[in-house]
Amino acid sequence: MNFINALKPYVANQYSHLPKSRFISVFILRTTQSEAIFRTEGSGEGCNREIVTNSNGQALFRAVISKRKQIAVERREGRQQLRKYELLFTNKEKEAIQDDNVCSMNRNNPCEKCIDCMLYGYAVGTGGAQKSRVISDDAYSLLPFDLISDKKTFNALYENNTMRDPISGKASSSIGEDEYIVPGSHFLDIEVLRDVTETELLMVLGNIIRSKRYGAITSRIGSVKNTILGITGSDSELFSTLEWINASELLLQSEANEHPQPESKVIQNVTQSIAQLIDTHICGDYYSLTAEELKTFIQEVKDVYAFPEQLKEKLIAQTLSYPQNEGLQK
Ligand SMILES: [Zn+2]
Repeated sequence: MNFINALKPYVANQYSHLPKSRFISVFILRTTQSEAIFRTEGSGEGCNREIVTNSNGQALFRAVISKRKQIAVERREGRQQLRKYELLFTNKEKEAIQDDNVCSMNRNNPCEKCIDCMLYGYAVGTGGAQKSRVISDDAYSLLPFDLISDKKTFNALYENNTMRDPISGKASSSIGEDEYIVPGSHFLDIEVLRDVTETELLMVLGNIIRSKRYGAITSRIGSVKNTILGITGSDSELFSTLEWINASELLLQSEANEHPQPESKVIQNVTQSIAQLIDTHICGDYYSLTAEELKTFIQEVKDVYAFPEQLKEKLIAQTLSYPQNEGLQK
């Protein structure tokens, strides 16, 4: 990757335990491409929403995609690559690698060696821990919750196409109501990467671009398109997702404040608000890629993913470069 030059001051040559104030902010527009359900647990509950104030000080509900859920989807995407190239490990030195003891999410057996562990963080009961270097807020909807959500009732029919059990003759009780986010709804999100290397940055961007489904997922719902609208390197964090939402909403107010908001208008205004906010919020040094630079950079990321050998080589080199992996053979 050549393009990284402009961002070099904000990227680490090598992983280090000690933070050095290098931040890369990735500004993401997430747009639902089908009905989507973002909720905490189980079914029957409504979609996540939170009451917040807008830039005029008015309270309103916005739909929320929780940061935990977003990052989990993207991590799974990246871990597939690591699994493919055998770059997930066991957490015991001498243990043979078997399917059931290899590094996995939510099973409390992080290997403490792979890129995923080192980048997105882990904690184990015995005291080992790595803080996540991918920091994110919840993603909020640009429009208020009421304008982008709907409800539908569903009833689970028996095979005889009725609500009555064909054997017992009893009426089915499985009638429910599902609340969902309508297609074409826009959410904004900032992922802030801290002291990451070039390859770690490549992997996070690849994970974002390649992730296509979020929330409660079936084959028919949960499709989301991620568009990276900006990348800024800086020596401090810039501003919050909520500040970005409010500034963007203010710009969009006069032209597109109803669903469906035309994507081109959204992109134009939301991108403009990034520059405005940096201008007013920053206390330090930064560099934002221009639109042309961003396009080239994203293309370079896609090019690496298009050549698996090249990607594999980078992932192996990154894995071997972590201090604890000295002596590891690959
Ligand atoms: Zn691991």
